[in-house]
Amino acid sequence: MSAPTYDLGKLHGGLRLDAHKSQSTARPIMDVPVPGQLVLPIGQHVGDPAQPIVGIGEYVLKGQLIAEVHGTLGAPVHASSSGKVVSIEPWPVARRFGEPAPCIVIECDGKDRPVELAEIAPAFDELPPDVLLQKILHGGIVGLGGAVFPTAQKLMQATTCDLDYLLLNGVECEPYISCDDVLMRERAAEVLGGAQILMHALSIDRCYIVVESDKPEALHRLAEVMAELDDERLVLKLVPTIYPSGGEDQLVQLVTNLEVPSAGLPTDIGCLVQNVGTAAAIYDWIHDQEPLISRVTTITGNGVAAPMNVRARIGTTVADVVNFVGGYTEHASQLIMGGPMTGKSVNTDRVPLVKATNCVLIMSETPSPGPEIACIRCGECAAVCPVQLLPQQLFWYACADDEKSLRSYGLTDCIECGCCDLVCPSHIPLTADFRKAKGRIRELADEKARAVRARQRFEARNERLERDKRQREQELARQKKHAKAAGPAAIAEILKRKQQQKEDED
Ligand code: SF4
Ligand code: SF4
Repeated sequence: MSAPTYDLGKLHGGLRLDAHKSQSTARPIMDVPVPGQLVLPIGQHVGDPAQPIVGIGEYVLKGQLIAEVHGTLGAPVHASSSGKVVSIEPWPVARRFGEPAPCIVIECDGKDRPVELAEIAPAFDELPPDVLLQKILHGGIVGLGGAVFPTAQKLMQATTCDLDYLLLNGVECEPYISCDDVLMRERAAEVLGGAQILMHALSIDRCYIVVESDKPEALHRLAEVMAELDDERLVLKLVPTIYPSGGEDQLVQLVTNLEVPSAGLPTDIGCLVQNVGTAAAIYDWIHDQEPLISRVTTITGNGVAAPMNVRARIGTTVADVVNFVGGYTEHASQLIMGGPMTGKSVNTDRVPLVKATNCVLIMSETPSPGPEIACIRCGECAAVCPVQLLPQQLFWYACADDEKSLRSYGLTDCIECGCCDLVCPSHIPLTADFRKAKGRIRELADEKARAVRARQRFEARNERLERDKRQREQELARQKKHAKAAGPAAIAEILKRKQQQKEDED
């Protein structure tokens, strides 16, 4: 095994932020017991929500498929424990606009009875890559770094590109979040086992495991397991502790010194990025036949009695998890699903932990930075933007609802990291404005797509009606010719049919 290397590219901008991680990394990962009730959203991923295949009253087993992929992009959902499906209903979830989403609710029987497993799972390297990719699709695995893109479909897309590297993202740069750090410390073998499976599925032979320099324990443990595996294809890379170096494009730039093109993907320049948690989930599914039914999540902030990392079943509510870590403190006044920079505030602890939940942050109210005033054109926001955008310009066009200029100034490349907000002396909530503007652009694009589909349906219907009419006319002409030869009774029959056709058309 080679030593960790630092031959890095440069990240534009970014910020050094207070980490606030040691409060949750002091303890080992603790398992949250199976709760009395699990709430499983059918849309926990990018793409169409999964389609429920169980009914109310049905008994399900741990690991059983309960909602299958529906549409071209999606991931299945599995029961996280055994019990009875008691409802399929809208439930509060941590989504951008806060509206409830359809969930399958399971009343657990406490027995945690698993589905029957194949006696011996075939070794991953005995499977052809395309078969392995199909198998990954059935595990319900999505990107656990927060993007929740269905993993199998991301891998399938990548196999159509000229790939050089797999990058395992262990750069957990957002303050408070430490689930990947503890995962690498405690489950390094599964993380690296997942990397080997991914390399086989992608038919590539180079994997960089990228870790921030402030994670010495994780680094040490990864290095130990790599020495045991003696797999030269695995290489450790260190990156500086700077936010947001864990963003997918930023990570690629740091490690390869190549820039991901605007509106492009890392695969355009030969890289595929997967989170370390995703790699471990792939290992659990392929090696141990356990689909994605649990994950490691950081529960932290001064609003909980004992901040720590827990392994909880997907669908466990925040209320149940907080109860497990000793309950709330008197400081608990805001609940954020995710980290302080990119997380979503929610107003109820009835929301379930989902595949995307890397952190639950419960803390006292953040003091207001001060009243918003007009932009003074200081340029601080542009200096810290890791995507090299001009946030002050984008803000101007967002206020004017100027979609064309927003696009040409690269709004869709904004990763919503929040760096520009933090440095803005005018206290302008730039990121929130960019999020809203992106939402409006998406809505417009959806509306356009809906209008195109409606026009296509209308034209297809007209074509079909025309075609049917032509066929009927041809048929009548043929019968007329035939009747002429057959005599007056046949002609009367033809005229009757023609009259009937006219009436039908009217
Ligand atoms: S940091 Fe704020 S005040 Fe300065 S240019 Fe950007 S938006 Fe304007
Ligand atoms: S939120 Fe967007 S515009 Fe602001 S610094 Fe981050 S990437 Fe740049």
